[in-house]
Amino acid sequence: MALIVQKFGGTSVANVDRIRNVASLVKKELDAGNQTVVVLSAMSGVTNKLVSFCEEAAPLYDMREYDAVVSTGEQVTVGLLSIILQSMGVPARAWAGWQVPIRTDAAYGKARIETIDTDNLRAALAAGEVPVVAGFQGVGPEGRVTTLGRGGSDTSAVALAAALSADRCDIYTDVDGVYTTDPRIVPKARKLPRVTYEEMLEMASLGAKVLQTRSVEMAMKYRVNLQVLSSFEDIPGTLVCDEEDIVEKEIVSGIAYSRDEAKVTLQGVKDHPGIAASIFGPLADSNINVDMIVQNVSEQGRTDVTFTVPRTDLSRALKVLDCVRKEVDIRDLSHSDTVVKISVIGVGMRTHAGVAQKMFAALAERGINILVISTSEIKVSVLIEEEYTELALRALHTAYGLDAK
Ligand code: ADP
Ligand code: ASP
Ligand code: MG
Repeated sequence: MALIVQKFGGTSVANVDRIRNVASLVKKELDAGNQTVVVLSAMSGVTNKLVSFCEEAAPLYDMREYDAVVSTGEQVTVGLLSIILQSMGVPARAWAGWQVPIRTDAAYGKARIETIDTDNLRAALAAGEVPVVAGFQGVGPEGRVTTLGRGGSDTSAVALAAALSADRCDIYTDVDGVYTTDPRIVPKARKLPRVTYEEMLEMASLGAKVLQTRSVEMAMKYRVNLQVLSSFEDIPGTLVCDEEDIVEKEIVSGIAYSRDEAKVTLQGVKDHPGIAASIFGPLADSNINVDMIVQNVSEQGRTDVTFTVPRTDLSRALKVLDCVRKEVDIRDLSHSDTVVKISVIGVGMRTHAGVAQKMFAALAERGINILVISTSEIKVSVLIEEEYTELALRALHTAYGLDAK
């Protein structure tokens, strides 16, 4: 008998009929002789609606209360699935994060899971019940509900799989696996039968929202057998696994994009030692993550510095930079929030040259200007104007030979 964690995303539980479909997938696992712990998201669109209620109530809302509001979507779906399973004769019980308990730190709105006490769930399993756990939520040190950041139900599922030493963690969603790029933008995207933890981690952190980044981090750390598959079609999905388990390695395995970027350019910055620290120090102190950075060669003692920050933090960053300008001599400051970061990812880059060059050439051929570049061992990212997102994704997908036949 295997123990499986089955996670179903928003589209898979979008209404009562779809929740019935989820119940049948749970039943199928039980009929195969396995035990299952189910983790659910809120119905699709519900969390967005709850977030907008908070914004409407007050622009600078208290994050504790935000969590009290946005965690409710998952409570509805776990209750409904339990009712449906019970009506099918399957003993099932809904569990809120605090009841498990899934303990997190106090970073309301983006809490990290610290520990999961599995005694209650194990007792429920031993009694023959199916625990249906609310994803995305936990309980903080003050005994208050916390949420794990958008897309956090994936992390709830992987964390439970790790804590319970489950044999598998199945992430059921509205696509039938992880593709070479977002299949909704590039119709020629190809499904990857396998992808390494490392590549999946880069893809997720560079914008592919099919799995939350932290869920992949955790799966990699605890070696959870992670699978992404469709709620609607009974076909093999994508296995996230170790590099050794992949026979045919591609040089580039995926292309990701992120619209969550904003660009800031400081022109005519007086160039002397310590200048970067005096610009980026205050941003770090304000918890603003700076991602890509370029500094031009200086001319007549002055230089230009361009960098990116999360789009949601742009106005805070500009406020911080206003203060910085009182100390640092900067001639001009400009910014843009209509940029997108496009990244090509692949473990094969470690051993193959020319990957970045192919990217630059493909973009140049389409007349797409590159604003900023950054690289790491297994990825190359460029910042371009947002209007070219689709054109760039399709051009790169073809250039790296990823198009489906
Ligand atoms: P869920 O509600 O099930 O958690 P999400 O919307 O969070 O689903 O994630 C699934 C979506 O991720 C897909 O509908 C797809 O548009 C998007 N996506 C982005 N990049 C990829 C990729 N490389 N492979 C598959 N899906 C991707
Ligand atoms: N419902 C939450 C969200 O929309 C968590 C999730 O779906 O994973 O972000
Ligand atoms: Mg998701």
